[in-house]
Amino acid sequence: MLDKAPNGKVSDLLNALDKALSAGDVERAVDLFQADCYWRDLVTFTWNIKTMEGRDQVREMLKARLVDTKPSSWKIADGEEATETDGITESWIQFETDVARGFGHVRLKGGLIWTLLTTMSELKGYEEPLGFDRPMGAKHGAERNRKTWKEEREAEAAELGYSRQPYCVIVGGGQGGIALGARLRQLNVPTIIVEKNERPGDSWRKRYKSLCLHDPVWYDHLPYLPFPRNWPVFSPKDKIGDWLEMYTKVMELNYWGSSECKKASYDEKRREWTVVVERDGKEIVLKPKQLVLATGMSAKPNMPKFEGMDIFKGDQHHSSQHPGPDKYKGKKAVVIGSNNSAHDICAALWEAGADVTMVQRSSTHVVRSDSLMELGLAALYSEQAVQAGMTTAKADLIFASLPYKILPELQTPVYNAIRERDADFYKRLEKAGFLLDYGDDESGLFMKYLRRGSGYYIDVGASELVANGSIKLKSGVDVKELTEHSVILTDGTELPADLVVYATGYGSMNGWAADLISREVADKVGKVWGLGSNTTKDPGPWEGEQRNMWKPTQQEGLWFHGGNLHQSRHYSQFLSLQLKARMEGIPTPVYGLQKVHHIN
Ligand SMILES: Cc1cc2nc3c(=O)[nH]c(=O)nc-3n(C[C@H](O)[C@H](O)[C@H](O)COP(=O)(O)OP(=O)(O)OC[C@H]3O[C@@H](n4cnc5c(N)ncnc54)[C@H](O)[C@@H]3O)c2cc1C
Repeated sequence: MLDKAPNGKVSDLLNALDKALSAGDVERAVDLFQADCYWRDLVTFTWNIKTMEGRDQVREMLKARLVDTKPSSWKIADGEEATETDGITESWIQFETDVARGFGHVRLKGGLIWTLLTTMSELKGYEEPLGFDRPMGAKHGAERNRKTWKEEREAEAAELGYSRQPYCVIVGGGQGGIALGARLRQLNVPTIIVEKNERPGDSWRKRYKSLCLHDPVWYDHLPYLPFPRNWPVFSPKDKIGDWLEMYTKVMELNYWGSSECKKASYDEKRREWTVVVERDGKEIVLKPKQLVLATGMSAKPNMPKFEGMDIFKGDQHHSSQHPGPDKYKGKKAVVIGSNNSAHDICAALWEAGADVTMVQRSSTHVVRSDSLMELGLAALYSEQAVQAGMTTAKADLIFASLPYKILPELQTPVYNAIRERDADFYKRLEKAGFLLDYGDDESGLFMKYLRRGSGYYIDVGASELVANGSIKLKSGVDVKELTEHSVILTDGTELPADLVVYATGYGSMNGWAADLISREVADKVGKVWGLGSNTTKDPGPWEGEQRNMWKPTQQEGLWFHGGNLHQSRHYSQFLSLQLKARMEGIPTPVYGLQKVHHIN
């Protein structure tokens, strides 16, 4: 007998799943999963972002959530075909729950589910007004005292936060706050974005002069409005700043620039926040039901404390404050740190004619940009992928369908191939004394990013300067102290310095909660970011998802949003739907609310 075609296999499986779930037969549903299965749910079943690992966790979740969720209509997604490669059958799928429409992805091994991704596309009855349902814009006909679009926008801006309270306040108007704001606007959730900088995009503009995005354009699109096809591959920081400013305007966001959130507190009885904002020097009190901290995971500078910093006579600043190299021509610069910012700043200082030394305390993962683009990202985010029919939404969902537990083993071969391809490059760096690593388990850059958000450099040219000695290197040492005119290292070396840049990274987003709300609330919600992989800077136990990001926290009404452009785009969809459901009073019982194992 001939094997069934992939479509038949997936349809049979989905029909069986549909029947078992509709009948409330959890055991029959669990039998359709492999023993080593993964079910990643973005909001549809769990009102959470959660991966169930193995049959027991699937069973437990279904027992808790099946009755409420009432899933139905499982099928291969409209217009899609299942495919089969190396014994894995996979397909895009669609389904419904009682309150939402879902889209997802399934991989079958031996006819049973190996990985299942279920994501919420839209809430029934609260669909975004798009396509056939787009707004008319004009109001045809005649009407006395009609208001124009501009007048309505002005009235909204005058009213919201003053005579009418927003449902949601987003603190931080970088790309994260902006992307989430755009989604909430489409869902008709009254929202104010509070940003202490004057203009949208300033958080990029204010970074060091030479900065260009390290990720390519295909990875960086914002929701709804992709970059045009002539947009550069690596966007210069001021250009991305301008794009964000334009986006904020055309997406009609209520964006309060020059407005700093000073403090926030939650009234458990009223289930409401009091958010104190200083807007253009005036204090305003906002009373939203939901508070999102989009204050940036790379925005709270980690400033080291070394003896003698107070007597050093030259310039010294954290990398986030570095103005650029222009005034340091012919000067001696010492850059403390060896990750992305350190490399970018060293290279720009060298280009400007400074004498530069990088101080590397511990090993760094370096990956050449070309190799990362070709071997790491091309299949999903590249021009070739676009030409082959890959869309941003599908790329995001394929990525989301790979459970974090098995991601390291999928990533390691990529970085092994990169190491082989760039063996000479790595040899030359090591010869120059540079301390290299490839992640604790050799799984490379992306896992480092997800686990600790640091520890790497995407090489766009500075490594060559390190290898050939143009950027001097002191590695395996730390700073002992500063004198009036030098930096003294732990091995006794004295580096004369006119400038010291501390490229020492950023603190946890948990610190924002402590600053703006209270230490108690910060400790209650715990560490933000990381997977619990038990690798450097990501202590266990295993959590299975990024801690506290885009999902309910231990503090009702408090959310964290952010990450790189890809994460901001993708996860803003699920955070916006969670907020919308709450606003509309749709029950949102959270399954598996994350326990707190680390306070920051
Ligand atoms: C040097 C560098 C290079 C990077 N390169 C890339 C890249 O190539 N691709 C990529 O995807 N990501 C990159 N990132 C990571 C990340 O995408 C950026 O940090 C990005 O800016 C994060 O956006 P965000 O909106 O989460 O935070 P931010 O852009 O940091 O925005 C947070 C905002 O919150 C505001 N804020 C803070 N506190 C308050 C308050 N109390 N009241 C009002 N406003 C407040 C700040 O002013 C700021 O504008 C890079 C980061 C750095 C530091």
